[in-house]
Amino acid sequence: MDYAASFLARLPRGKRSLGLNKLVSRIETYLSKEQVAKVVEAYEFGARAHEGQKRHSGEPYITHPVAVATILADLHLDMSTLIAALLHDVIEDTGTDKGEISKLFGEEVANIVDGVSKLDQLRFRNREEAQAESFRKMVLAMAEDIRVILVKLADRTHNMQTLGVLPPAKRRRIARETLEIYAPIANRLGINSIRLELEELGFKHMHPRRHRVLERALRRAKGNQRQFLRRISARFESTLSGSNIEARVESREKHLYSIYRKMQTKGRSLAEIVDVFGFRVIVADTDDCYRALGLVHHLYKPMPGRFKDYIAIPRVNGYQSLHTTLFGPKSMPIEVQIRTEDMNRVA
Ligand code: MN
Repeated sequence: MDYAASFLARLPRGKRSLGLNKLVSRIETYLSKEQVAKVVEAYEFGARAHEGQKRHSGEPYITHPVAVATILADLHLDMSTLIAALLHDVIEDTGTDKGEISKLFGEEVANIVDGVSKLDQLRFRNREEAQAESFRKMVLAMAEDIRVILVKLADRTHNMQTLGVLPPAKRRRIARETLEIYAPIANRLGINSIRLELEELGFKHMHPRRHRVLERALRRAKGNQRQFLRRISARFESTLSGSNIEARVESREKHLYSIYRKMQTKGRSLAEIVDVFGFRVIVADTDDCYRALGLVHHLYKPMPGRFKDYIAIPRVNGYQSLHTTLFGPKSMPIEVQIRTEDMNRVA
């Protein structure tokens, strides 16, 4: 019999609806039975500690730590991180102290929970510290264990997901902090899924009207472009396979916040950004990257000054790819990234 199912069946109905169900079925895919049992134990401890407390939404408080742990379970993080996520607010919001957590769940968990609590108390003391860059540095320096930051990022992600219930001024303040501090930290750590979600939600709450307008415009543009994208994609594919290069061609999705940022920083109009087609060509090895580059340059004229060889000279974070921009049909710019499967995984 399915372990999670039997475990959940023994819990009172009310508890099953607090998100525990989802969490258990996720972690069951990669943790041992003993570890799953330990996580549920942490849940029970946390639920008792937060008993009677409510979120702004009116839901029982424990739904929040459970959601935070579930975000981390999606990233397949270890048992200690998940337990710490379930207990991340108990030091600050309940009478529990670090020693008690340490006794029940071990020193490692206690240290993570303590680290998250200390991060929460971090406030700007002066103007210099209030600058996003130095604040980001402080956050990173304060956490000796990277898992502290991971819990904090997941905490912020869930708080952003449930931000709607707060008054607008408070929403904007939290959204700004998310865009200036937390999304860049997620970016630096290479956790793309969290970065994108923080940026999307941060933008939406920071500039609700601009977000709405941009979202609508992008949806319209995408509808018009679908045919065009397919045609270019097919041309790439047939040219490459005609030269015996095994390749996968993907069109690149554009994210609202990155479009908005480009409009702001580079002073471009929406049309100038949206009407740029992005493709990714994934090939078998480095040799094929350069051969594929030659072929796409032959297919469409390359734009001068836009070619970058990040394979020969990788970016500091290890990113590798060939980047080029072509003049497509009707002179529409086509951005192409060429890389191997390995490089794609790293990216
Ligand atoms: Mn929290």
